[in-house]
Amino acid sequence: MNIQDKLFNVKKLGIAGHVRPDGDCVGSCMGLYNYICENFPQIETHVYMESTGDRFNYINNMDKVEEEVVDTDFDLFISVDVSDKERIGVAYDVFNATTNTLCIDHHISNDGFAKENIVVPLASSASEVVFDILDEEKISKDTAEALYTGIVHDSGVFKYSSTSRHTMEVAGKLIDKGFNFQSIIDDGFYSRSYIQNKILGRALLESIVFLDGKCIFSALSKENINFYGVTHQELGGIAEQLRLTRGVECAIFIYETNDFEYKVSLRSNNFIDCNEVAGYFGGGGHIRAAGCTMKGTTHDVINNLAEKIEIQFLRTEAN
Ligand code: AMP
Ligand code: MN
Ligand code: MN
Repeated sequence: MNIQDKLFNVKKLGIAGHVRPDGDCVGSCMGLYNYICENFPQIETHVYMESTGDRFNYINNMDKVEEEVVDTDFDLFISVDVSDKERIGVAYDVFNATTNTLCIDHHISNDGFAKENIVVPLASSASEVVFDILDEEKISKDTAEALYTGIVHDSGVFKYSSTSRHTMEVAGKLIDKGFNFQSIIDDGFYSRSYIQNKILGRALLESIVFLDGKCIFSALSKENINFYGVTHQELGGIAEQLRLTRGVECAIFIYETNDFEYKVSLRSNNFIDCNEVAGYFGGGGHIRAAGCTMKGTTHDVINNLAEKIEIQFLRTEAN
């Protein structure tokens, strides 16, 4: 499949990512947007996403991202890196109102909510899936830089289990386009602000292990978050650091988004199926990284998650 086949007769196109966009969401949406603007200039293309601050401003055309939808009557609307229709951010209503929709994604929990769906659960990132539907020779340096950003972020700089030979080959082909890949990794992925380091420290300091040290959790209240003055997007990487605790198979990081409502991040190392656990509570994602939103006190949330995780431990021990 080539994106060109889908653009036949399309005069007005919309592209949208998911709520609280991450590096892969920004990279895959902007990679696709740049590619279409450069190679199909006759198409009126709009890209929609919540603000990501200035973190990804090095990506070409970030100033074209629309945070609100004013336009209507799209011939085609494409969601990228969106696992679930409910998670389409600002463009939810207009996506629903469009007849021709295409979903490009890599979440195992994706049920194929669009008219046409390209969902590749084994892919490292939506950016890798986007690369595979483009003509390699038509990919510019700008498009390559965006897609490389997405791959770096969603593969944890080529270390998560979703990284394949193909991921590396795609990354190599993108690097050949000639952008500065070192700064994407150092400044875009590893660097943290002072307050990000402080709140990471706080979350680690207050983390608690359970199930004989095989699980770890940490919770941040709204008061904690307000005290440090961080946005929700700045909390990325905490679940990942918890996962790296020696002996831990499964890490849980939760933070309060509203009174008694928590955003949950789950990570595992070898066998716990995070997608299955998150799925019980209306969320999803990947086998080694998934998320959901849960209501109740911190105790309720952790107890409910621990119950489902323990079932998986018992199941694994029995086998
Ligand atoms: P996070 O813990 O937010 O970094 O998310 C880990 C993975 O799970 C990402 O690929 C997300 O897209 C996915 N995910 C997070 N929250 C949800 C949710 N509520 N529903 C479906 N997928 C989710
Ligand atoms: Mn994403
Ligand atoms: Mn992704």
